[in-house]
Formats: sequence, structure tokens, C-alpha cells
Amino acid sequence: MAEFTLELNDDQKQVRDWLHGFAADVIRPAASEWDEREETPWPVIQEAAKVGIYSLDFYAQQFFDPTGLGIPMAMEELFWGDAGIALSIVGTGLAAVGVLANGTEEQIGTWIPQMYGDVDDVKLAAFCSSEPDAGSDVASMRTRAVYDEAKDEWVLNGTKTWATNGGIAAVHVVVAVVDPDLGSKGHASFIVPPNTPGLSQGQKFKKHGIRASHTAEVVLEDVRVPGHCLLGGKEKLDERIARARERAKTDGERVKNAAMATFEASRPAVGAMAVGTARAAYEVALDYAKTRSQFGRPIIDNQGIAFQLADMRTRIDAARLLVWRASWMATTGKPFTSAEGSMSKLYASETARDVTAQAIQILGGNGYTREYPVERMHRDAAIYTIFEGTSEIQRLVIARTLAGVPIR
Ligand SMILES: Cc1cc2nc3c(=O)[nH]c(=O)nc-3n(C[C@H](O)[C@H](O)[C@H](O)COP(=O)(O)OP(=O)(O)OC[C@H]3O[C@@H](n4cnc5c(N)ncnc54)[C@H](O)[C@@H]3O)c2cc1C
Repeated sequence: MAEFTLELNDDQKQVRDWLHGFAADVIRPAASEWDEREETPWPVIQEAAKVGIYSLDFYAQQFFDPTGLGIPMAMEELFWGDAGIALSIVGTGLAAVGVLANGTEEQIGTWIPQMYGDVDDVKLAAFCSSEPDAGSDVASMRTRAVYDEAKDEWVLNGTKTWATNGGIAAVHVVVAVVDPDLGSKGHASFIVPPNTPGLSQGQKFKKHGIRASHTAEVVLEDVRVPGHCLLGGKEKLDERIARARERAKTDGERVKNAAMATFEASRPAVGAMAVGTARAAYEVALDYAKTRSQFGRPIIDNQGIAFQLADMRTRIDAARLLVWRASWMATTGKPFTSAEGSMSKLYASETARDVTAQAIQILGGNGYTREYPVERMHRDAAIYTIFEGTSEIQRLVIARTLAGVPIR
């Protein structure tokens, strides 16, 4: 088991520098254009595929890095480049993780390569869990999966919302209810293969930030998928459902509340994205404060500005430490006894929101315009306190974990 370390090894440093170069040379220069276009930046994804950043190999290498620092380091660098474009690049990886975590070896081998496509024909994947009436309250999910035993097929019906890459993805991973009595314990994940009839894109959302990332509803009308598209397989699902039914008889309340704590291991990755955006805005603000003069001296000569920068940098470093700790815990199988995954996401996302706002303030009027990137970074940063569990839900998970009672 890897010891916790604050120092990247030589291989990691090399990967970090390579990613930073791509973020600086390819992502950052394209950021403003794709933010204005509000479209998926296919040419940038293709470029990332060409150099090997948009690929299963790269994602798996970081995901299985035994120190746990591969994914946070990669996320920070790419999101330092630009959050919207970076989400377009890593969105497929987030769906692939659902398959890596729950799929059989055969499912991993079959579906993940189709999620990425190849260099000449890149594809995307989408992870579809949220619904109009089931956001934070995952247990209220309505999308139903019913097994048609005669045909060995699952039939999916429902509407998903807020799906990153929803409707434009080749492969959709869809979470659906297989046993409505069990709350989130009665959910299962399904692969919907490319061009499956019945799956369509609903409305595409026009967003406040991360506008280069496509977000849309996904409508499922009598979508039939083969039995082998149930992630983990039917036998495992039947065992899990039987166990959950048994437990529900004695411990109904806990089953209802379990959903909110299931993302501890994936939340640090979102925290790392937030660290990337915060660091980007801080660097712009630091540079500006050194070069902008008022009253005959650089504005950084004022404590009012310099202290803000000191606070910004301190929070960013603290956020990164929380993210690295939680990622290391996830990778080495340490139990999240204090909801450390949620802590890292909560702190990093609020840091990004606040630091990007301070950056605008330090740039004054220029910060408020689209001539400078901090305006976009602040709009982008607003997503981190919302997706993968809002700040309120993170606080709820942390508080419940510490208190040991179902605080409402
Ligand atoms: C750009 C974007 C991309 C997304 N990508 C995906 C994706 O790829 N796949 C996917 O499945 N989902 C995705 N989501 C969905 C995202 O995870 C949800 O938006 C999020 O979980 C919040 O759900 P909601 O929007 O329904 O808000 P709600 O749950 O309705 O919450 C509204 C407000 O009430 C608060 N609240 C709710 N319950 C409580 C409570 N018990 N205590 C205190 N406060 C509470 C919330 O914190 C929030 O402030 C995405 C969302 C966005 C905006």
C-alpha cells in the first residue's frame, strides 16, 4: 500500500508537465472561443486524442496510479487550462469510471474503447443519473428498468437531465430503478450502446459557465438493451437486491439515507478540477497586481491587495491537500470515517468560487470584462458547488458521518 506523500515522483512530474504544456498551448488559447460558441470543442478533443490525453490508456493509468495522485494531478492541470474544454475532455472518463467500478472484465473491454472511439473518429460517453425530480435526492429516481426474461433484454423508460455529453455521446451509462421499494439500493447501471432506438436528446441547456461542455436531457422511450448491458451482470444484481431487501426489513431508514454517502471516492476528482480553476484565476490576479499601477505604485504594494492574494493562495494549497488526502484514501482503501472525500470537494469548490470572485475584484473593471479570463473562470467555478453533490449535500454527508445520526 502506497504511503501518503506530498511529493510527486519523477514519472508523475513528467506527466504533469506534459499536461500543463497541453493546457497552456492548446486548451487555454481556445477557451474564449468555445465559451462563446457554447459547443463541444471537437477539434480540441481530437488534438487531445492525437497526443494520447483523450484515451482509455491515459485515464486508466491515472486512475490506477497506486499513490492516488494521478487523477487529481491530471484534473488540476487540465482544468487550469479551461474548465469547459477540460470537462469535454474528461467527461467520458467520468462515465468510464462507472464501468470500471461496476462492470465485469468483459464489459470493460467491450464498452470503454467504444466510449473513446479512435484518433480519427473520436467518440464521447455520458453518465446519466440526475432526473428532473431526482437531483440531490437520488432515491427519488423514476427511470425504470424492467427485465424481459423471454428476450433477455432490459427495457428502460424515463427522462434524465443535466447529462454531460447527453445525446451526443456514443455510449450512455444510465442509472435506473430495478426495485422501487429499496430507494437507491434498488438502482442499477446500464450501458446503452451507440444508436440504440428510443434514446434521444431532450433540451440542451444554455449555461452560466463551462459553456464548452455540452449538458442536456436524455429521453428514454422503450429503450431495449441486451441483458449483458446490465453492469456487473444479473447474478450480482439479484444477490445485491436480496441482501438489500433483507436489510431493509430491519433497517429501513438507513437504506433510504445511504445514497448521499456513495460518492466519497469520486468527489476528490471534482475538488481537483476546482483547484485547477482557482489556481488559474489566482495566477492571473497575482500577475495583474504586480503590473497594474495606481497612485504611482503597483497595486500589490497595498496590503489590501497583497493580503487577498495571500488568502487566495493559502486556500488553494489547503484545498489541494484535502483533495490529495482523499484521493490517496480512496486508492488505498482507507475508510472515509469523517467523509474526507466530501470535505475535499466542499472546501475546494467553495475556494474556487471565492478565489475567482477575488480575482475579478483585483483586476477591477478589466476583471469584469471578457477581455480577461477571470470573468469566465468565475462563471465556470460556480458549477463546482453544484454538481457531484451540492455544498449543502456535502455538509449534510459530513455532518451525518460525524454525528452518526440522520441529520436533516
Ligand atoms: C453543468 C452540469 C453538469 C452536470 N452533469 C451531470 C452528469 O453528467 N450526470 C448526472 O447524472 N448529473 C449531472 N449534473 C447534475 C448535478 O449533479 C445536479 O444538478 C446536482 O446533484 C443538484 O441537483 P439539482 O440540480 O436537482 O438541485 P436540487 O437537488 O433541487 O437542489 C436545489 C437546492 O436545494 C439544496 N438542497 C437539496 N436538498 C437539500 C437538503 N437535504 N438539505 C439542504 N439543502 C438541500 C441544494 O443544495 C441546492 O442548493 C450536472 C449538473 C450541471 C448543472
